[in-house]
Amino acid sequence: MARDVSKTFGARKALDSVSVSVAEGEMVALIGPSGSGKSTLLRSITGLQSIDAGSGQIDVFGACVQKNGRTTPAVRAARQKLGMIFQQFNLVGRLSLFSNVMLGALGRLPGWQGLFGAWPSADKTKAMAALHRVGVSDYAAQRANTLSGGQQQRGAIARALVQGAKGILADEPVASLDPVSARKVMELLVELNKRDGMGVIVTLHQVDYAIRYCDRVIALKMGKVVYDGPSTGLDTTRLIDIYGPEFEDAF
Ligand code: ATP
Ligand code: MG
Repeated sequence: MARDVSKTFGARKALDSVSVSVAEGEMVALIGPSGSGKSTLLRSITGLQSIDAGSGQIDVFGACVQKNGRTTPAVRAARQKLGMIFQQFNLVGRLSLFSNVMLGALGRLPGWQGLFGAWPSADKTKAMAALHRVGVSDYAAQRANTLSGGQQQRGAIARALVQGAKGILADEPVASLDPVSARKVMELLVELNKRDGMGVIVTLHQVDYAIRYCDRVIALKMGKVVYDGPSTGLDTTRLIDIYGPEFEDAF
């Protein structure tokens, strides 16, 4: 979906002629040391960030969302189909978990009717079902900023479900979580991928998670793709070959 994409910040190339193609329904880990371009690539896919003019183009679900350094009108529809999850639990802290999940339905409501309290009851039912599915329905009424990191992250996944997302882009969704919550979030992403056929691209610093939970790994180094292939067969020795001996310090 990204073809020959570059992004330059001043003198630094955050992405350097990156070409990756992810099919619908794949579960892909994006790995690389800090500063290798992982977040830049995810932001470019959603059109939150423009790519260099004159570099390639980005397609999401078959529609071109960026070309020649400009986003296209198709970017709006693409965003609607992509659930975004970030390291810092991007929920509205003062709203209840339920309201946060309902925000996922906003983009689909005509005239922003949801903002005025007229939530269609079908959406309310859907939101509760999503919270139940990710295992946090007991916390529906609680303010998001009083929930644990793992609970908030599962809430963000519920919001993506209510949004009707076909794919999930998760930027270090487990980096701020304890190992038990991290495993639960990864297992939930795997379940959405395997059971619901949702495509998932997840950036991870833990290479062992990438290998255990994802089918395919794309590795970046200084804005370039240095590995793109199956997770099976990837191990520390292979990654030292790819990144050099400093690999273990870099991740
Ligand atoms: P991390 O693992 O630390 O999150 P990353 O792989 O996500 O790192 P990016 O955030 O994509 O890395 O950054 C890639 C490079 O682009 C870095 O050198 C960074 O300093 C630079 N960069 C990213 N965003 C900007 C920006 N808005 N302005 C200037 N430089 C930027
Ligand atoms: Mg990042």
